[in-house]
Amino acid sequence: MLSWGLMRCPYCNSTDSRVTDSRPDIEDAIIRRRRVCNQCGAKFTTVERVQMRDLLIRKNSGKIEQFDREKLRRSIKLACRNREVSDEQIEKLVTSIHRRLETETTDDSVSSVLVGQMVSDSLLNLDPIAFVRFVSVYRKFSKISDFKKIINQIPEVDGDANCVAECDLPKTSLF
Ligand SMILES: [Zn+2]
Repeated sequence: MLSWGLMRCPYCNSTDSRVTDSRPDIEDAIIRRRRVCNQCGAKFTTVERVQMRDLLIRKNSGKIEQFDREKLRRSIKLACRNREVSDEQIEKLVTSIHRRLETETTDDSVSSVLVGQMVSDSLLNLDPIAFVRFVSVYRKFSKISDFKKIINQIPEVDGDANCVAECDLPKTSLF
């Protein structure tokens, strides 16, 4: 098989490697390539991601910057800290937002408000606590009433075991 591009072996730094296996992951729009270094024989995997177009983000200040997938992932991960959300779920969320931004927006730049809205909507479905945390940071909450307002907007989900456990707690301990 052909070896694509100059990929350095992480062990010996050689650029001489061959591809032994390619696996497209359609859902995540990536291709994983297994490689063997011809120099030292080490096996490693590279990931190719399809980039539809350059994404530019327009901040509230009017400043425009390159879309930073890693930054998006970090902010979501922070909101999900200690919640029952796996790294895989976070990665899927980042991928779906990234793809929606690439395919559903037509402007040269996308407003950071839209990105924040997309993340909030997805987090609300995934984990309401992570949602509240994320929104409080991205909308720069400064008062407790900001939290009250947003929490009142969260629809009650039937059969949500987490919610029941957390809502029951104050009743027994405080009243
Ligand atoms: Zn090597």
